[in-house]
Amino acid sequence: MSNPKPDELVQIEYQPSHRDWMDPAVEFRKGTFCYSALPRNLNYLGLPNAREWQPFDKDWKLPPDWKRIILDGMKERLRKYRSFRLFMDICVRCGACADKCHFFIGSGDPKNMPVLRAELMRSIYRRYFTLTGRLFGSLAGGRELTEDVIKEWFYYYYQCTECRRCSVFCPYGIDTAEITMIGRELLNLLGCNINWVLEPAANCFRTGNHLGVQPHGFKDSVDFAVDELEELTGIRVEAPINRKGAEILFIVPSADYFGTPHYYTFLGYLALFHEIGLDYTFSAYASEGGNFGLFNSHEMIKRLNAKIYAEAKRLGVKWIIGAECGHMWRVLHQYMDTMNGPADFLEEPVSPITGTRFENARSTRMVHICEFTADLIHNRRLRLDPGRNDRWNVTFHDSCNPARAMGLLEEPRYILRSVCNRFHEMPENTIREQTFCCGSGSGLGTDENFEMRMRGGLPRANAVKYVRDKHGVNLLTCICAIDKATLPSLLEYWVPGVEVAGVHELVGNALVMRGEKERTTDLRGEPLAEKTEAAHA
Ligand code: SF4
Ligand code: SF4
Repeated sequence: MSNPKPDELVQIEYQPSHRDWMDPAVEFRKGTFCYSALPRNLNYLGLPNAREWQPFDKDWKLPPDWKRIILDGMKERLRKYRSFRLFMDICVRCGACADKCHFFIGSGDPKNMPVLRAELMRSIYRRYFTLTGRLFGSLAGGRELTEDVIKEWFYYYYQCTECRRCSVFCPYGIDTAEITMIGRELLNLLGCNINWVLEPAANCFRTGNHLGVQPHGFKDSVDFAVDELEELTGIRVEAPINRKGAEILFIVPSADYFGTPHYYTFLGYLALFHEIGLDYTFSAYASEGGNFGLFNSHEMIKRLNAKIYAEAKRLGVKWIIGAECGHMWRVLHQYMDTMNGPADFLEEPVSPITGTRFENARSTRMVHICEFTADLIHNRRLRLDPGRNDRWNVTFHDSCNPARAMGLLEEPRYILRSVCNRFHEMPENTIREQTFCCGSGSGLGTDENFEMRMRGGLPRANAVKYVRDKHGVNLLTCICAIDKATLPSLLEYWVPGVEVAGVHELVGNALVMRGEKERTTDLRGEPLAEKTEAAHA
């Protein structure tokens, strides 16, 4: 069966189903779910119940005592995470979050309303962990825990990208993403996970990065980028790896040195660091900032993230810069210093170029590349020619985690307005804290899940279409590796003619480097705007 066409997919049925929401039965329809994790990945990560199975199988081969495992797991987490217990107790079902989830907007499925997604778990909490639920069962909103509930959890907790948009609108601050995280963590106890999450996690353990690139492959990729940048600019930059005693460790998501359009952003970093003479190093072991543990369990977050501080210590750096990535920054900003710290062996970050003290990074000792670059621009340390980006008419997609989990809203915009001449914001209720997710985050960016990704990405694409039609926007910029991987197919599907780029790709284009040859192309090797016009004249 081929993927549905856009005009079929926009026929969304918002009428509530006649079925009682308490009925857990789900249909695993092709295109709307992700395949199960391969047993070899569970084994590699030491996770339970490795076996061959698929979500559409009748028999999920759960462990015989699966019910006890889930209830014990819930009990433990209700004790351990106060937020989880609070979120189970305080929802007043006001419905303010109901129409805020991109998966509900794109699918019309009521169980994709955040309030109902949480209720799938809350109903089990009520039945087994509250007195009224134990006494009155469904009359008190409780449900029996059955295998069908496990299947329903799997379906809907892997139809939430943990984007936290709903939490912005909840008067009580209930964060459904955290409920999804606990849901996935509980499913994990039964060996019910998806391969798109566990394969990268297993690769990370083996080689330090999601893609399974070994140290010599990492070095080859970096060397290739150095050669390519020399061809484009005439300047040979240094890109040190594992250099002990460097001032700064630079952490990137692996897609930056292996995928497009990420790779052009990577060229932008190399050009920038060379131009300011930064004393930095990559690590061939911490060759991944991304952390798919966030989509699996708190324990996995901690295990995967540990390598960053370990490498900072081994290499003897003073502090860390992190590149453009979404969920990587949620982990770094919200969890790293408490999970893997304290990082008291590092210094409080101070820019060696401007002297700016990054007080917000006092605890993690890690600075976002956009904060670092915005500070350089603000202190007039870069020579920039925004005209080199004139072939682009630019808008900015706030990636969910830097926007909502970090509040990194102004720095990317400040950079973009400095490095390009034409910039247009998408409508207000689709950007900044209210940004719409790409629809493919949290490990859902697989081909088998194509229909649900396109549905989930519809609100984002719709806002892009608005600025394309109104202002002629032809480039969507972002600061997330998952966005760069998944937005191109989303836009090709819904808004053809709009491309995707990282912010530092445009920085690299605009950056006037000392001693560079006359630039005739941008970092993609495409003629600069005036050259294009001249060629057409
Ligand atoms: S907005 Fe908050 S309180 Fe209201 S239904 Fe949603 S989660 Fe519950
Ligand atoms: S976190 Fe995002 S994907 Fe999940 S329910 Fe809330 S809005 Fe939907």
